[in-house]
Amino acid sequence: MTAPWVPATLVDARMETPWSRTLVLDAPEARPSLAGQSIDVRLTAEDGYTAQRSYSLASPAGTRPIEITVDKIADGEVSPYLVDQLGVGHMIEVRGPGGRFFTWTPDLPDPVLLVAGGSGVVPLMAMIRTREAAGGTAPMQLLYSVRTPEGLFYRDELDELAARGRIDVRYVFTRTVPAGWPHQAGRITRELLADFAMLPEHDPLVYVCGPTGFVEAAATHLVRLGHNPLRIKTERFGPTG
Ligand SMILES: Cc1cc2nc3c(=O)[nH]c(=O)nc-3n(C[C@H](O)[C@H](O)[C@H](O)COP(=O)(O)OP(=O)(O)OC[C@H]3O[C@@H](n4cnc5c(N)ncnc54)[C@H](O)[C@@H]3O)c2cc1C
Repeated sequence: MTAPWVPATLVDARMETPWSRTLVLDAPEARPSLAGQSIDVRLTAEDGYTAQRSYSLASPAGTRPIEITVDKIADGEVSPYLVDQLGVGHMIEVRGPGGRFFTWTPDLPDPVLLVAGGSGVVPLMAMIRTREAAGGTAPMQLLYSVRTPEGLFYRDELDELAARGRIDVRYVFTRTVPAGWPHQAGRITRELLADFAMLPEHDPLVYVCGPTGFVEAAATHLVRLGHNPLRIKTERFGPTG
């Protein structure tokens, strides 16, 4: 049965990048979430016109208030409003969370390989935060591809976790690299995955999320490297890579 639409009030917000915003939503009637799940957001105009889109939860499993991070698609209908206009104190509607396949729970002991393209890092961050909240010990790696250094979400938090040895993080910049960066700008390749990612012999659970083209390319590379397709879970956010 489809979950009902319930009210959600924006209680806080912060910019993650110049074009992306984390929205902290108080939605007391929403069901508790698993890491990796998404909610539907519905906006209603004064004339009754509605638009709805899905957004992954960034907040740890089961916590309130819930958080989403929205990347502004310049000609988009919903994302520019959520990034630029929705004011603290205003109410929208949400439904869910939903999605049972692309989820992770901290009781799983298996090593975890997370592969993100752009805003695809959001549900993977929920997994990382859930593991931190639970004091989990499953080994975790994050390979995070983004166009430019300014486009990284959650950078301070990820760098801090990496510095404490809690997670192994590699950023991949497809357009511009920071000064002194040891790698060239470019997309994720099979060689790069082979160099960074844990070996198929370790049988990691793999989560890949991002634009459709990115997800398909990354999953293909991983299977060719010998990762078990049945251990690779994917979530596609948008139409193209
Ligand atoms: C399960 C799920 C989880 C998602 N989680 C997130 C999330 O955590 N953060 C987030 O920012 N987005 C997320 N998305 C994408 C989100 O649902 C919207 O598609 C996105 O915000 C664009 O909506 P819009 O109304 O602004 O653009 P639209 O008006 O729908 O589209 C405008 C134009 O942009 C193109 N477009 C639409 N979506 C994308 C995209 N994702 N990438 C590139 N081009 C696009 C369209 O083809 C069209 O040309 C998720 C999608 C799914 C299915």
